[in-house]
Amino acid sequence: MVACAAVVALVALVSTLHRPPSSVRDVVTTATLVVMVALATVTKTPVRIRSTTLATAWVETAIVVGLAVAPSPWVILATGLGVACGSVTRLPAIKTAFGIAKHILVAGGATAAIALMGDRWPPREPLSIVVLLGIVYLVAALLDDVLAIPVIALASGTPISRQFRSNIDLRIAGFAVRFVVAVCTLLILQADPRLLLAVPPLVLSLHLAYSTRIRARTEQQAWQRLARTTDALNVVDLDQVLTTAVTQAAELFSADEVEIELHEGRRTVRGGTGGIAYDGEIPEPSVVDGRVIPVALEGHDHVADLGVLRLRFAGPVELSEREQYTLRTFASALCTAVRNAQAYAELARIAEEHAYAATHDALTGLSNRRHLLDEGTDQLTTRHAEGVTALVLIDLNHFKEVNDTLGHGAGDRVLMQVADRLRGSARPGDLVARLGGDEFAVLLRGLPAPAVAAHRAEALLAALHEPLDLDGMRISVEASGGIAVAPANGGMPELLRRADVAMYQAKRAGQRISTYAPTRDTADLGRLTLGGELSRAVADHEFTVNFQPIVDLGSGEVIGAEALARWHHPTHGMIDPLRFIEAVERSGLLPAFAEAILDQALIAAGSWRAAGFDLPVSVNVSPRSLLDARFPGAVLARLRAHDLPPDRLVLELTETLTLSQLDVVDRVLSRLRDSGVRLALDDFGTGYSSLSLLSRIPVHELKIDRSFVTAMESSAEAAAVIRSTLDLGRSLDLTVVAEGVESEPQRRALWELGCAAGQGHLFARPLPAGALLAALQRGAGGRPGSLVAPLHDAGAVIRLPGRRTGGRGRAATSASAAGQTADESSHH
Ligand code: C2E
Ligand code: CA
Ligand code: CA
Repeated sequence: MVACAAVVALVALVSTLHRPPSSVRDVVTTATLVVMVALATVTKTPVRIRSTTLATAWVETAIVVGLAVAPSPWVILATGLGVACGSVTRLPAIKTAFGIAKHILVAGGATAAIALMGDRWPPREPLSIVVLLGIVYLVAALLDDVLAIPVIALASGTPISRQFRSNIDLRIAGFAVRFVVAVCTLLILQADPRLLLAVPPLVLSLHLAYSTRIRARTEQQAWQRLARTTDALNVVDLDQVLTTAVTQAAELFSADEVEIELHEGRRTVRGGTGGIAYDGEIPEPSVVDGRVIPVALEGHDHVADLGVLRLRFAGPVELSEREQYTLRTFASALCTAVRNAQAYAELARIAEEHAYAATHDALTGLSNRRHLLDEGTDQLTTRHAEGVTALVLIDLNHFKEVNDTLGHGAGDRVLMQVADRLRGSARPGDLVARLGGDEFAVLLRGLPAPAVAAHRAEALLAALHEPLDLDGMRISVEASGGIAVAPANGGMPELLRRADVAMYQAKRAGQRISTYAPTRDTADLGRLTLGGELSRAVADHEFTVNFQPIVDLGSGEVIGAEALARWHHPTHGMIDPLRFIEAVERSGLLPAFAEAILDQALIAAGSWRAAGFDLPVSVNVSPRSLLDARFPGAVLARLRAHDLPPDRLVLELTETLTLSQLDVVDRVLSRLRDSGVRLALDDFGTGYSSLSLLSRIPVHELKIDRSFVTAMESSAEAAAVIRSTLDLGRSLDLTVVAEGVESEPQRRALWELGCAAGQGHLFARPLPAGALLAALQRGAGGRPGSLVAPLHDAGAVIRLPGRRTGGRGRAATSASAAGQTADESSHH
């Protein structure tokens, strides 16, 4: 543009040199032209674009008037000179050069238009003045816009078309006003040049009116833009807030660069109207070098100091009062928006954390029960879910003892390791969950066939087989598993219940894993639902005890009775102990429960004794009770309270791995034993390390587990276990009682192997204390105290098992003949 202007100026200069202003009048005209252009350049309405200011001016008016009174080349040169004079002191060189070049080109363009008019120019009559001047003026004004607007658009980063349209009404109005002024000036010049003195005041007042309008308009637009911007900041996403703030501030304040520095997260965001150019922690030095205007990001209350907003300009800039106010308002709105977004992000984070915590177990990071139920329900209700869904429930067998002996910290680490192992052996589609305590579950999804579930469950339990390492100490955890394949209906709760039933079947049968079989499911309510009702049950004495007689296999005489707990549930009826004992043990209600059972057992024993049947009563003891050092004291106190000698009480213990290793258990058992209480090992043969346990805990009695008795006729192995148990009993001088004797052949076989005592449905089912007493009193075959006929003919020698009867004879009271009463428990 400057080059074109230089050519135009050169041509003008050459033609001026051909015909220089010769008369005084010519010189005055030229000088007046220069002054007019200089004045027109100064009188302008400035609009700041970034660090430069652009203005509409009266220069075209001066050019057009000049062209009407002087030769074109003079006008072109005078224009260049005038603009130079008007701007050189106030504007940077580049801006001055641009102004000079632009106006020389405008004057050149107008000159070209005049050349086309031939000798119709300069016009003389008023009509031609209006028409011709109008044409020239239009050319000049359009040229001015065409040259200036692209530059403004480029500098402000707005589209050219938008820049053309902006303030078009005001620009046309201004154009019209200046045109009228030009016409008037010419008419005045023709009438009387002295009247020209009136022109400057007229121009000035018109100019003032115009610039007031344009300023008001600009301001209104600025406020509207501010309002839109603060609206746009009203979002909850911090990134969006920052992007909006940067781009909008760049436009609002026409800044070359906008930077927002936030204290939180040490984040700096930088950019311009085009968007974010930098977003990071340690800001690099900005490329924009010049004036920086910083504003603190603080709320109206001045308490929150969030960071700084910086406007950067390439050159020197003064913000107008309105702009300063806008900036403060903008900073305050930005501060609020950032605070809101940060608060929202925090809320979202907390919500996410809660959602995670609500679905995961804090200790192991596995899914929790709720998540398992939700996911399982999803899986079961998805129409086209592929394959078979199954649930494996896994319960650690002696975890409580680990917890109680080694401390909760160790217990937690065991659970974490178990969780890791399960996670490690689970397949990608599986969901591993911890249901609470030492109970885990794995949801198997998309199995190719139901039978595959058992293989997967085996693999899961096998993963727990290797001992765990606890600070160099090797601990083996035994676990039982129950498998259930998704039922046709009943959903997740039913699947969970079935897996639970299966797991209990496994525990009961001494197997590692059991698969749910509907035929074996006698439970109609889940063990799980009972938890909350336990405390009420203890308080309301809903736990009662039935007694199953222990019989001399040879003579059929009753030599003892085992107390078996029952729960008389108000709505569910009689509940089997295997379904609630574990819940009681976990609940913290164990001491109260154990004492209630012991009390009832001792009361019963006392009543039989008073009736002449001095039978010892056997009471089952939870392993957990043996970890309580106060347990022996409590037992002995109950014995004293019921005025029974300690040897009338047999405590049945279950073998457990850790039991044998604990000092506290040793002390508890020694104390009980030393005070005369008798000890029995229950379910003998099913547990582990039976023999090593026996060497640690000297007991008086072994109870052969029912499973061996049931299988003895068909399985040589079961028979061998019974035989060796009996051998052991003989060599250690212990009483051996066979459990689950259901038939005469079993009774005879056991007796022939040398087993002196038995217990089972053949003799009696568990009975209430009173019913048992009545049966004892009735007797069998006219022999009170007997429940069945002896194996031998009357008068034959009867082998009495030494310890049970222990020489303490029963009163040979007469009783009516007795039949058997059915067990009142819910078993049958
Ligand atoms: P256990 O100590 O092995 O008790 C024997 C179980 O076998 C009893 O089941 C009994 O009813 C059952 N039974 C007896 N004779 C026969 C038979 O001929 N055939 C068959 N099929 N079963 C027979 P119950 O009463 O359901 O007790 C189950 C287990 O619950 C007991 O097994 C014992 O471990 C536990 N238990 C019962 N009462 C208490 C208690 O007061 N405290 C504690 N800690 N555990 C108890
Ligand atoms: Ca027992
Ligand atoms: Ca048993």
